[in-house]
Amino acid sequence: MQIQKADFIKSAATQSHYPQTNKPEFAFFGRSNAGKSSLINMLVNRKNLVKTGSRPGMTRLINFFLINDSFVLTDLPGYGYAQRSKEENKAFDYMLYEYATQRPELKTIFFLMDLRRPPTNVEKDTILYFENFDIEVIVVATKADKLSNNKTSPAIHSMASYLQRIPELIYPTSAVSKKGRADILKLIETRLK
Ligand code: GDP
Repeated sequence: MQIQKADFIKSAATQSHYPQTNKPEFAFFGRSNAGKSSLINMLVNRKNLVKTGSRPGMTRLINFFLINDSFVLTDLPGYGYAQRSKEENKAFDYMLYEYATQRPELKTIFFLMDLRRPPTNVEKDTILYFENFDIEVIVVATKADKLSNNKTSPAIHSMASYLQRIPELIYPTSAVSKKGRADILKLIETRLK
């Protein structure tokens, strides 16, 4: 799939503010610093569609983008900011809950994890959380360029084993080398049919 157009639609925190698009939607989610902004920019071939290294305060909203006038990509706020207060965490959890349950356009969540960082219960639970709402979760292992080729496969396998998933269904990516770009675009393309 060629990316011809990538347009910002709007940002929203609650369902009443979501854009009306009626197009298949694909979300990107992960711990802050997992490489989500870099991955989205790499996928759509834009340097700065999504701002990288944003401060926590700037990232409390869901950002919606229209791609090729045919599908929607969403940038969900990252989790794991130590600076978030209890109330902010509550609001964040509710925002995710609302998005998972009240966005029928949502097809798939690409769940990003830094390949070098062993997953924890948080990651395991997050995946199950979305799957329990019948949302497809695809695990993406980011920053693959930071590991040598012979270390990538063992890292994917140990991630898969901990998450009890099939290693072949975890997609290594790199925003630097563009590894994984074609695979992810292909996954999206097959879900547009
Ligand atoms: P976000 O908080 O999940 O949106 O993460 P960012 O995209 O802002 O990336 C966090 C940091 O990791 C930045 O310093 C990026 O330059 C770096 N980074 C992100 N993706 C990659 C990658 O694929 N390879 C390398 N080497 N660095 C990356």
